[in-house]
Amino acid sequence: MGTTFDVTVYRPSTESALADVDLESAFDVVRKIDQLMSLYRDDSELTALNKGAGGGETKISAPLADILQASVFYTRLSDGAFDVTVQPLVDLWGFYRVANAAVPPEGEIKKTLETVGMDHLSLDKSARTATLDAGAKIDLGAIAKGYAIDRVIAVLRERSVPAALVNLGGTVRVLGKAPGHRPWIIGIRHPRENRLIGEVRLERGAISTSGDYDRYFEADGQRYSHIIDPRSGQPVQGVYAMTVLAPNATTADALSTAAFVADGLDLLLECRNVSGLKIEPQNSGDQETSPDTLLFTVTSEPDFPVKAPFTSYEHPSVHPLISTIDHSAYRDCVWQIDN
Ligand code: ADP
Ligand code: MG
Repeated sequence: MGTTFDVTVYRPSTESALADVDLESAFDVVRKIDQLMSLYRDDSELTALNKGAGGGETKISAPLADILQASVFYTRLSDGAFDVTVQPLVDLWGFYRVANAAVPPEGEIKKTLETVGMDHLSLDKSARTATLDAGAKIDLGAIAKGYAIDRVIAVLRERSVPAALVNLGGTVRVLGKAPGHRPWIIGIRHPRENRLIGEVRLERGAISTSGDYDRYFEADGQRYSHIIDPRSGQPVQGVYAMTVLAPNATTADALSTAAFVADGLDLLLECRNVSGLKIEPQNSGDQETSPDTLLFTVTSEPDFPVKAPFTSYEHPSVHPLISTIDHSAYRDCVWQIDN
């Protein structure tokens, strides 16, 4: 997946030999998922599916069928803000090799948009086949890390690991309590500087951040980052980062990307068991102040995982956005990956 992976497993000292096996099993899971779902491997199942576009059905494995189904769910939930058929646009803008990235001509964007959209993918879950229209391609970069983490947690649970923290490229899920029966503390990065701006106390579940600072290029004083609105074909601008807390990592990963595109704490506010943090530049009038001046808004979901999940280190003004939605009217935004 071209990213970092770390797992911390806590076991009583008498079980340290088991911990070695825990870690091996965890790495095994991630390796296998990478073999299936990487765009960067010629021999991955995803590459085969993409190559088969326009040529009828492709047989797919249960995990790939699973993640594609979850992807369809998040596309529907976000009205198309999250869409794994975004691949041709990511390619057109050059985000697979950022060194060569450039703003493409408007006409190219328009043409490419015709190959993007979930209606270009059909899935047959029971026959375990997928069919892609000619020109369409899938990129699981916004959800595969979360999915892999959830599979790792499932394996660690099966092995009766009492507590663990799994971090794959900045998406994190925890199991059990941190040592001392405390919540896990997860640092939140400053979107422009190499330091932390605050922390989240995670009692359980997962956290994921989508930001504009990891993969981007600049042209004419504008920053273009790797998350693209699949409806307009344009990289999303104006938001620095969107963090989502959710019961599982697949949901946190997909929803952080979806919310980033949808500029959407509104989307998160409607979700049962989900909290969000938005980091954006603080604008004064139409004059953008120094990028150092950040505006934080958190959604305040009554139950999960804590009431005010985010503590800022230096900007005490965190704006809570309280949900006015009736509890019973919440949407179910959590893809059930754990059963
Ligand atoms: P990261 O990979 O940095 O953790 P994300 O989870 O938000 O960040 O995933 C971003 C990646 O997903 C992009 O690099 C691209 O490959 C793909 N992508 C870009 N825009 C979208 C989108 N609107 N929906 C789904 N995937 C996207
Ligand atoms: Mg994501």
